[in-house]
Amino acid sequence: MKINNRRGKDKAGLIPIATTKDWKLLYFQHGRPGLEESIQSIGLCRHCELIDICAIPKPESGIWRCEYYKVLAKKKTNLYENVIKQLEKAEGIVHFDRDICKILAETMNELIVHFPVKMDDGNVKMLTGYRVQHNNSLGPFKGGLRFHPSVDIDEIRALATLMTWKSAITNIPFGGAKGGIQLDPADFSFGELEKITRRFTFALGNSIGPEYDIPAPDVNTNPQIMAWILDTYLSTVTPNERNRCIHAVTGKPIESGGSQGRNKATGQGVVFLIEIWAKDHGYNLKGASYIVQGFGNVGSWAARLMKKNGSMLIAVEDVTGAILNKDGIDPDDLADYVKEHGGVLDYPKAKPINHETFFNTKADIFIPCALENQITAETAELLNVKLVAEGANGPTDPEGDNVLQRRKIDVIPDILCNSGGVIVSYFEWLQNKRSEFWDLKEVDHKLHKMIVDAYVRVRDTAEKFKVDWRTAAQIVAVSRLEMVYKERGIFP
Ligand code: NAD
Repeated sequence: MKINNRRGKDKAGLIPIATTKDWKLLYFQHGRPGLEESIQSIGLCRHCELIDICAIPKPESGIWRCEYYKVLAKKKTNLYENVIKQLEKAEGIVHFDRDICKILAETMNELIVHFPVKMDDGNVKMLTGYRVQHNNSLGPFKGGLRFHPSVDIDEIRALATLMTWKSAITNIPFGGAKGGIQLDPADFSFGELEKITRRFTFALGNSIGPEYDIPAPDVNTNPQIMAWILDTYLSTVTPNERNRCIHAVTGKPIESGGSQGRNKATGQGVVFLIEIWAKDHGYNLKGASYIVQGFGNVGSWAARLMKKNGSMLIAVEDVTGAILNKDGIDPDDLADYVKEHGGVLDYPKAKPINHETFFNTKADIFIPCALENQITAETAELLNVKLVAEGANGPTDPEGDNVLQRRKIDVIPDILCNSGGVIVSYFEWLQNKRSEFWDLKEVDHKLHKMIVDAYVRVRDTAEKFKVDWRTAAQIVAVSRLEMVYKERGIFP
């Protein structure tokens, strides 16, 4: 990377500060109030247009963190717009009740909280957190919490809406919500993350609760963070209520009331669906190859569970880079490496590849388990696979989806494919309410039944309406919600 020390303005009046082969990074303003240690910056990709605007802490080393920009510097498409377009597409086919679609196209409640947290160095930092509740006609609001620099109100709206569809498809008695804090966890110590989590939970107050809105893990959050949320929530209720509120959050550590199988649940659901898809298509998974984007909770579990089918992982991409080994990568060994090194970069038993080569790798199955809008018109053209099993939420944008359909690449869509997480969260919630403990065999058995039932509903709907599976999944979800609204009517 070249750093521009002369700081001359370019044609757009912006000042280039650093360049790489693919990225051009510019800043346009110093020291916004509250961001004295930061610059406002803008990242431009050489291959597409404007990408993102972000506040970036001034690096003490004076070296700009190019990799960080790279994460943010994906062409920014609005996930919420994509989610609404998908709803409209289904509406155009089934002619759902117009008024009910009007309701479902809006979120019910949106909470934005700005809260102070004292950092390890004694300084106070202001942070921004979100909780969006899309719909609770089927049951309490339910959805994860994400800690990521890209978190904003539109992203959380979209993810909350997807949660409503997911609960509806799987027939679980939950609505949809999502939340998050705009931050990069790598910028904070363990203790600071605990304080941030607790202060955010406190700021949410009665907007969450075991029978009202139940958070769970998502990107960069984990069972430890859920334990802090639970402890903070329980500290705010009366002693008498405390033991009746363990189900205020799911995805907890087992000792704190978590369920067996919750940690692997989303990846497990993805693999159950790949197995049933393979059975349906007379496809032998033994010896089949797969590539995985994102090697966190969902990606690493999906990769490891696929190994049991005798399938071979050959390429992985995460935020640190991408790797390939055509003779196979052992997902368990890679998971140990990622735990120690924080990412797949420099994994010694595979060679480094770039983003394009990763997408172009010939394999049978692609399992995207990172962020949204990864499969675009460009990357969908590169894909060399038969099936895309969407572990991530919103990994495919509408243009990418059109390309996948034209190229006859099968898709198990996100709202079905990654529903294993919310299904086992429901099991955790039920066990807490009933003071029960199910063993792993029971959890897996029930998860398998629920997710395969949902698969069959989506497959049959796709056949009935002669539509792609994403549209079919949307039709299944909206049909269930429409029925409930019709039965109950609109108050008053
Ligand atoms: P995680 O934080 O455990 O892992 C995220 C992974 O994505 C990491 O390996 C990270 O390096 C990678 N990543 C981030 N940015 C990337 C980029 N620009 N390019 C390539 N890789 C990148 O998160 P997770 O819980 O595994 O969630 C992953 C996806 O699955 C998200 O879309 C999330 O909403 C969805 N999801 C998660 C759950 C759950 O139970 N955790 C449930 C349903 C859906």
